[in-house]
Amino acid sequence: MQKKMCRMCESKSLEMVLDLGFHPPSDAFLDAEELNQPEIFYPLRIVICESCGLWQLDYVIDPKILYQKNYPYESSTTKTGRNHYTEMASTLAKKFAKPGELAIDIGSNVGVLLQGLKEHGLKVLGIDPAGNIAAKAIQNGINTIVDFFSLEIAKKIKKEFGEAKIITGTNVFAHIDNLADFMRGIDYLLLPKGVFVIEAPYLLELVKNLEYDTIYHEHLSYLSLKPLSKFLDKFGFEMFGAEKQNIHGGTIRFLMARKGNYAIAKDVAEFIKIEEDEKIHDVKYIKDWFAQEVKNHKYELLKLLLNLKSMGKRISGISAPAKGNTLLNYCGIDAGILEYLTEKAVIKIGSYTPGSHIKIEPDEKLLDDMPDYALILAWNFADEIMKSMKVFKNRGGKFIIPIPKPIII
Ligand SMILES: [Zn+2]
Repeated sequence: MQKKMCRMCESKSLEMVLDLGFHPPSDAFLDAEELNQPEIFYPLRIVICESCGLWQLDYVIDPKILYQKNYPYESSTTKTGRNHYTEMASTLAKKFAKPGELAIDIGSNVGVLLQGLKEHGLKVLGIDPAGNIAAKAIQNGINTIVDFFSLEIAKKIKKEFGEAKIITGTNVFAHIDNLADFMRGIDYLLLPKGVFVIEAPYLLELVKNLEYDTIYHEHLSYLSLKPLSKFLDKFGFEMFGAEKQNIHGGTIRFLMARKGNYAIAKDVAEFIKIEEDEKIHDVKYIKDWFAQEVKNHKYELLKLLLNLKSMGKRISGISAPAKGNTLLNYCGIDAGILEYLTEKAVIKIGSYTPGSHIKIEPDEKLLDDMPDYALILAWNFADEIMKSMKVFKNRGGKFIIPIPKPIII
């Protein structure tokens, strides 16, 4: 469905700045049978709201279609991921809660963050729409409701579990279409001095490091401080902290609460100033510069891969993250260029990438087969991947990191 109104401020002045073409949902990995079926491609375009500055997709796929499949992302797949959430739990529990208070994680995945909060004595509750992933959390002893978060669900939760001191959402806020209903749900469920903490890819990093592959249909909004602050104000909330995180490329943590409850860190004003200086909300600048850089990147990456192919080199890929599919489909990289991808996550092995139809094999295949090059699609975990696959390099294989500029290591 095409949206005609800003998701945060409801302005109708939306200006298209980047068109990535048509893509299948980036988590819709296919099994061998499905390769023979038609595949639906949806527009993937960024518009900027001229009133509040929010970057957003103008085309929204029905969440029932987007999330109905066995959602393949597990937050505990990588060591970096696990460490990050364990540390986040510890920081939040110490700063904002007392043992016995309730912490709720929206989009709780397999429950890594909640596990950490539980270890600090908090009562915990997860909410996640993906049944297969939530089942794992429940197995691990994390009480999880299988649903999308909304005001309606917030009412049910409050009745049964009471109000929360901490509500978190990592990589979930940007996925929400009806943000106003979501925020009303937070307002309803949070204790008066409760904190609402989200983590999301930071727009500033997306622009500066050309992380355009983080644009995909699940990510409806691309968050920055300026539009978010304006949005929070409508609900009597404010941002009192903003902290960059060293995970997923450029992630930022936003700390929010009802106005006047917490001292506002000076970083908040500083980030807003940087956003202005970098002109990330400037429609003309983004259209003229950023959109062109994205195109140039495509030419450069393709040139590199096609040159290698023409020299008779064999190339495969390592890792099959959702963002990899934006890169593959936008650049037109298919099984004719990358012979296969390899993965650690068992859930993806044996399936094919949406659109580009590249088979996903276990990581071991790379070492048995030894192609000449391996393109790292989860470039945000490149260090960890190169370390765990160092045998590939020792045997003469080379890694290609695609973002921000394609490099061979
Ligand atoms: Zn707006």
